[in-house]
Amino acid sequence: MSLDLTEEQEEFAESVRAFAQARLGADALRRAHEPGYAWDAAKLLADQGLLGLTIPEEDGGQGATLMEAVIAIQEVAKICPKSGDVVQAANFGAIRTFAEYAPRELKQRYLPDLLSGKSLLALAMTEPEAGSAATDLKTSAVADGDDYLLNGSKVFSTNSPDATAFLVYVRFGAGVDGIGSVIVDRNAPGLTIAPPSDFMNGEQWSQLYFDNCRVPAANVVLGPGGFKKQISGFNIERIGNAARALALGQLAFSLARRHALEREQFGRPLCEFQGIQWKFAEMAVKLDAASLLLSRAVGHASAGLPDVYETTVAKLACNEAGFAAANESLQVMGAMGYSRETLVEYCLLRTRGWMIAGGSIEMLKNRIAESVFERRFSQRPTTVAS
Ligand SMILES: Cc1cc2nc3c(=O)[nH]c(=O)nc-3n(C[C@H](O)[C@H](O)[C@H](O)COP(=O)(O)OP(=O)(O)OC[C@H]3O[C@@H](n4cnc5c(N)ncnc54)[C@H](O)[C@@H]3O)c2cc1C
Repeated sequence: MSLDLTEEQEEFAESVRAFAQARLGADALRRAHEPGYAWDAAKLLADQGLLGLTIPEEDGGQGATLMEAVIAIQEVAKICPKSGDVVQAANFGAIRTFAEYAPRELKQRYLPDLLSGKSLLALAMTEPEAGSAATDLKTSAVADGDDYLLNGSKVFSTNSPDATAFLVYVRFGAGVDGIGSVIVDRNAPGLTIAPPSDFMNGEQWSQLYFDNCRVPAANVVLGPGGFKKQISGFNIERIGNAARALALGQLAFSLARRHALEREQFGRPLCEFQGIQWKFAEMAVKLDAASLLLSRAVGHASAGLPDVYETTVAKLACNEAGFAAANESLQVMGAMGYSRETLVEYCLLRTRGWMIAGGSIEMLKNRIAESVFERRFSQRPTTVAS
C-alpha cells in the first residue's frame, strides 16, 4: 500500500482546501465559539458536494472512497474546525451506519434532506448507566401493532439540541443479540428533549427521554442481532473522529509555528530558543506517526469498512498526537494561546473530548491488547461459584 496520495487525490485535496479558505475560513473563529450546529457551513458544504461522499450514488451520495472523505474532513477542519464537524455528521457519523444498513425505503425518506444540509442525524447510544459498557444499554423497544414503543434515556448525544432525527440504539430483547437501532424523529410522540447542557469545548448535548415513544416498525434500521454491524459502521465514525483530532493538532501546530517565527522575546524570535524548537520536533514526530497510522487504516479500507484493529490504533494515535500538539502549541503561544483570540484553545478543548468520545483512550488500549494477545479479556467481574 502506498502512503502517498495519488495525483487525483492531491488535486481533490487542493480543491477542498481552496474552497474552505474562500468560503469557510473567514468565519472559523465565530463558528468555533457558537454552540449550535453550523447550518450555514452545512449549506455551503452540500453545494460543494462534500456531504455523503462515501454514500453510493444510487442513494444520493457521491460514491467516493473513504480516503477522499478523510481528505475532505481534514482539509476543512484545518481551516474551519467547526465545519469539520459538519463533514463528520454528513459523512462519518450516524448517517454512515444508516446508509450502510437501513432498508431502501427508509433511506429514500431521510437521505435527501440529510445530504443537502437541511436535516441532521445524531447518534443516541450512551445512557446514564451505559457508557464504556455500551452493551449494558437498557432503552427498550417493544412491538405494539405496526409500531415499537421505546422506553429509556440517552445522554451526551453530539448535536442533539439541533438534530432533526436520532439513530437510537435500543434493546429488542436480552443480551448483545437483543440490541438493534431505530430512527426516531425529533417530534416523535413520547420523546422529550431536555434543555442543553455544555461540554467544556462549548458543544452542547441534551438528555433524551423516551416515555412510550411511538416509532413505526418501518423505522427499524437494524433489528435484533444488529449490534455487531452497528459497531462495524461505528468504525467509520472513529476514523472521522481520528481525522479531526489530527487536523486540529496540525492546525494548532501551524498557528504556533507562525507565532514562533514572528513573536520576539529577549530580542530574538521564539523559534531561536532550543526549548521551543524541541517542542516542535516532538509535535512533528507525533503528528507524522499518527498521520501514517490513519493512512494505513483508511488505505486498507478503500470504499468499504475499515479494519477494527487498524482503526483502533489510528484513533488512539491521532487522539493523543492531536491533544499533545494542541497543548504544546498553546504553551508556545503563551497568554495569546490561552485566550479565545485564536483557534488554539479551541483545538485543545476539542481534541481533549475525542479522548473520551467514540471509544475512550482506555477502551482503545483494551481492544489493542486483545489483538496483541489474540484473546478476549472480559471487563466484567468474575463470578465466584459459592
Ligand atoms: C465530546 C463527546 C461527544 C460524545 N458524543 C456522543 C454521541 O454523539 N452519542 C453518544 O451516544 N455518546 C456520545 N458521547 C458519550 C461517549 O460515548 C461516552 O462518554 C464514552 O463511551 C464513555 O462513557 P462515560 O462517559 O459514561 O465514561 P465511563 O464509561 O463511566 O468511564 C469513565 C472512565 O473509566 C474508564 N473505563 C471504563 N471502563 C474501563 C475499562 N474496562 N478499562 C479501563 N478503563 C475503563 C473510561 O475510559 C473513562 O476514562 C460523547 C462523549 C463526549 C465526551
